[in-house]
Amino acid sequence: MRAAVVGGGLAGLAAALELVDAGHEVMLYEARPTLGGAVQTLPERDGDPAPPPDNGQHIALGCFTEYLAFLDRIGEGTSYVRRPLVLPVIAEDGRRANVKPSLTALVSYSHLPLRDRLRIPVVAARCRKARARPGETLGTLLRRLGASDAAVARFWDVFMRPALNLPVDEVDADAGLFTVRTALLGPRASSDLILPARPLGWMHGDAAGRALERAGATVHMGTRVDDLDDLDADAIVDARPPEDVEHSPIVSVHLLFDRRLLGTPFAALLGSDAHWIFDRGVLTGHEPEQGQYLTVVSSGVPELMEIRGGDLVERIATQVTERFGAAEVLWSRVSREPRATIALRPGTERPTARTSSANVTRAGAWTATGWPPTMESAVRSGRTAARLLSGVTTKVRA
Ligand SMILES: Cc1cc2nc3c(=O)[nH]c(=O)nc-3n(C[C@H](O)[C@H](O)[C@H](O)COP(=O)(O)OP(=O)(O)OC[C@H]3O[C@@H](n4cnc5c(N)ncnc54)[C@H](O)[C@@H]3O)c2cc1C
Repeated sequence: MRAAVVGGGLAGLAAALELVDAGHEVMLYEARPTLGGAVQTLPERDGDPAPPPDNGQHIALGCFTEYLAFLDRIGEGTSYVRRPLVLPVIAEDGRRANVKPSLTALVSYSHLPLRDRLRIPVVAARCRKARARPGETLGTLLRRLGASDAAVARFWDVFMRPALNLPVDEVDADAGLFTVRTALLGPRASSDLILPARPLGWMHGDAAGRALERAGATVHMGTRVDDLDDLDADAIVDARPPEDVEHSPIVSVHLLFDRRLLGTPFAALLGSDAHWIFDRGVLTGHEPEQGQYLTVVSSGVPELMEIRGGDLVERIATQVTERFGAAEVLWSRVSREPRATIALRPGTERPTARTSSANVTRAGAWTATGWPPTMESAVRSGRTAARLLSGVTTKVRA
């Protein structure tokens, strides 16, 4: 079969690998000059610290089995650090408590009054069997299961917002339940944190492009396909992003400070636009000679998209130094991703891999994979879309 894949994000790359590995002739078309889609390293600029910043910190979880298999397939299975889930959370007064999937850690989460902490394991256990009501957000569901407002804001939102890229009071309850069940209530390794140790572009798009070419696929970068009818192919995976759905943004501010501020490789900050902060030097094994290289991430805050670069750097740097102590910014870069993921609000319809045409399937993290719009969803969607096509042509031949 002569198969074309349009879109070289993780979904398209996974689809192309699946097809070429099944022995098909594969052509991949990507509009941009690089592969990887939403998983990118920013084009290098003079003065960037090493390694160059990514478009935004990405985290995977131990339960992202297809994504991890994809990294293995492209030879990048050792390009990340895997560690048990421990999330340092730093409050407004600088005190730290950890989110950890253990009863003792949950109960000693000191950013909440004791009464609220004691309810966390109860609410988590109720998530096992809970059923979302139509139109319900995760925040409403958690309160219905017994969580206090403080617990929703200062515990659940801290890790569910980055996982789903929307505040818990906006995100679909079913997506939240799926995440809690799959990542937190499954086997212990499911909640492991997978932290990239190499620039995202190198360990995703670049490596996948090489793997595809080694396997015999043809990769066309800088080639936009607007009309699938233009393609000379028996079957097509359409892995382009959606046009007419609502998105949720991610803003990242990369900062080189003249001194060390953050004592852990990453942390979440309560009551700040700087939701999560990562020590890029430590995570990539390239610590600067002087100071600390940090990436600060804000998920699902459209207001931040409107702020000019210099003002945004000042706002985020001020919030970081207010929490950790005075420091000077030596270098900075801003990365805005207005369409980072679809906004998974209650009632969001996600199309399946099948289209009205038997020889065209659809892929993308945003499609109905059962997973929130993550790297895992992208890879799963691509493999499913490819397998459906192989199935179609086998049937036709038979
Ligand atoms: C800053 C940021 C942080 C994130 N953090 C995380 C995280 O921590 N964990 C996680 O799991 N996920 C995270 N995500 C989400 C994750 O990156 C995406 O869900 C996933 O990578 C999407 O892959 P995709 O292939 O579905 O879509 P895309 O990556 O959008 O790929 C679509 C591709 O199609 C190409 N294209 C578009 N139109 C055409 C055309 N006409 N012709 C040819 N090609 C075309 C595009 O250029 C693009 O390369 C994050 C996303 C961003 C932006």
